[in-house]
Amino acid sequence: MILAKADAVVRGLVGEILARFERRGYTILGLKLMHVTQDQAKRHYAEHDGKPFFPGLVDYITATPIVAMVIEGEDAIEGCRATIGATNPIKATPGTIRGDYGQTIGRNLAHGSDSPESAQREVAIFFNDQELFPRAHVLGDWISAK
Ligand code: GDP
Ligand code: MG
Repeated sequence: MILAKADAVVRGLVGEILARFERRGYTILGLKLMHVTQDQAKRHYAEHDGKPFFPGLVDYITATPIVAMVIEGEDAIEGCRATIGATNPIKATPGTIRGDYGQTIGRNLAHGSDSPESAQREVAIFFNDQELFPRAHVLGDWISAK
């Protein structure tokens, strides 16, 4: 699951971010602009609870509506994380989302799930079944044939 976080929305970079995943050939199964509640933010980032940046992180993704997307494709988790770039934009390779648009770790534009288990857990926080369109799958398989 991908999030275009608050800074991406405020800076008008949602289309730019979404386009990068589309251009790689991934299939969009779910996509919405939404307000994230404090509860959703804390559950989403539960692994960081207790760290000094946690309160600021929760504030960051609840500050404005964000865009949540579920995308699928061959090795999509690894591929999407590569497209997003390193957590700290200063270390992110130019050509990645964070490397092209980010300056600081506290405003790094996008989130990407780091494992299938995380993706499953996170999708359930942000989407219900009616908001997902798995039939797009067919195209995903077709477009990524080996
Ligand atoms: P990611 O998987 O690459 O997004 O990175 P992490 O899971 O390690 O951290 C989650 C998010 O917390 C990051 O994307 C940043 O928005 C934020 N974050 C991580 N480390 C720091 C930090 O040291 N300072 C601040 N301000 N934010 C951080
Ligand atoms: Mg992470």
